[in-house]
Amino acid sequence: VEMPKPVLLVEDLTVSFDGFKAVNNLTMYIDPNEVRVVIGPNGAGKTTVLDLICGKTRATSGKIQFKGKELMGMSEHAIVHAGVGRKFQTPSIYENLTVFENLEMSFPRGRSVFGALFFKRTPDVIDRVKAIAAEIFLTDMLDQTADLLSHGQKQWLEIGMLLMQDPELVMLDEPVAGMSVSEREKTALLIRKICEGRSVLVIEHDMEFVKTIADKVTVLHQGQILAEGKMEDVQSNPKVIEVYLGH
Ligand code: ADP
Repeated sequence: VEMPKPVLLVEDLTVSFDGFKAVNNLTMYIDPNEVRVVIGPNGAGKTTVLDLICGKTRATSGKIQFKGKELMGMSEHAIVHAGVGRKFQTPSIYENLTVFENLEMSFPRGRSVFGALFFKRTPDVIDRVKAIAAEIFLTDMLDQTADLLSHGQKQWLEIGMLLMQDPELVMLDEPVAGMSVSEREKTALLIRKICEGRSVLVIEHDMEFVKTIADKVTVLHQGQILAEGKMEDVQSNPKVIEVYLGH
């Protein structure tokens, strides 16, 4: 059986801030259709890893290859264009536009409020908005302004805005923070749906949620990988238990 080629190869990745290595010689491979969850205590370097992949932070050394293309040195915009989408924790939706308009605006040719409102609504855009709205459970809310959405629905809308650009790697930072139990369950379904045809890289603290979504877990500690593998193996690893219970 042929092994799938990883979509994302991170090799020997290091970033130093004034001599402090926030990410230290990290090597990690993500497969097509995989949901990978990065866990680890505060300050472990999780956010920095996503910042490095999306080009927000420049690495000191190492390789980041996406579909065979080197991302290091590329602009954030070029990395998005290459197919890497990242949802930040700070919201970027337009509260006084409708759900439809928010999604429409994220269609690759839109890009700005002005641009999106200026373009004609062609059937391909309408179809895509409707398909994405169904995935993010917002079909009934398409004509509502975004300010009327619940906290969880706003998070889904942002994920939908990412999906409009059809990324092959979707990166999410604590996607269920502040969500209700039922919103968490739906978000798990959404993430499992997103990974059909894409890869997903998630930072998450809620271990119950991690168990429901993760194919594999990477445990970071002090910028390095402490353990990696299936959740059931990782959570019984003595080194992992020590890091989580040791303080
Ligand atoms: P996590 O997301 O796992 O909580 P972070 O990636 O946010 O951890 O941070 C890892 C370490 O790197 C922390 O000690 C943090 O203070 C430090 N760090 C992150 N970004 C910067 C920066 N731009 N300048 C200096 N130190 C930073």
